[in-house]
Amino acid sequence: MTKRAFTPKAELLWHLVSTLEKERIIERAFCTKCKGSEMADYSGSEKNGNLVLEGVCAKCGHRVVQVVEPSTLSHRGTDQPKAATPASVARPRPRSRR
Ligand SMILES: [Zn+2]
Repeated sequence: MTKRAFTPKAELLWHLVSTLEKERIIERAFCTKCKGSEMADYSGSEKNGNLVLEGVCAKCGHRVVQVVEPSTLSHRGTDQPKAATPASVARPRPRSRR
């Protein structure tokens, strides 16, 4: 498994992944052709906050893509950007005009 070009964002996400997790992700890469094996020569990019690893199957050379969601990685309180939730509660305004 050889690490190739990562985009800066992908690199950042990849940093959040523990070494053990990285190995698992690379080794668990599912090849649709030969039903699995390692990912070789993988590169990374970022899509919708997820890390997308693209590589080839170490066995047969088939294209393998792994999507890594940061939320499923570590539960060690990494501050990740959350979807903006409206803090203000919509209050019904009574229309009392007098
Ligand atoms: Zn394969």
